[in-house]
Amino acid sequence: MSKIVSHENCQHASTKAARAQCRRHRAKFADVFSAVLGETAGTAIEVPAPVFESVTVTAENWREFREQKVVLFTRIDEDEEAPIAEGVFITGWGKQWVNYASPIGKVKRTAVTCLGARTVEDHS
Ligand SMILES: [Zn+2]
Repeated sequence: MSKIVSHENCQHASTKAARAQCRRHRAKFADVFSAVLGETAGTAIEVPAPVFESVTVTAENWREFREQKVVLFTRIDEDEEAPIAEGVFITGWGKQWVNYASPIGKVKRTAVTCLGARTVEDHS
């Protein structure tokens, strides 16, 4: 970068002293600016991760979520669930069975009795 400071766009008087003062101001500003940049250069900018909201999948809405990974679980009681399969895709939801496929396409089925399902975050 050129060291020659142009005063073409300056508002100050066209004197040697005014030009010198102008150069000092510019140098000071450049130092402050690079100090600020130096401080932030080593700091990772934290981008908040998008918040994943799990959706309950049912016999009625499962078709909307057939492209999304779900967790299938057995409802033991109101607060307790026993996972059956996680990160799978529902391929069919019948009266008795729910068919699901693993990410590699292995198809399995589980009884609908006490079955619960909800979408899970896809980390792949
Ligand atoms: Zn100037």
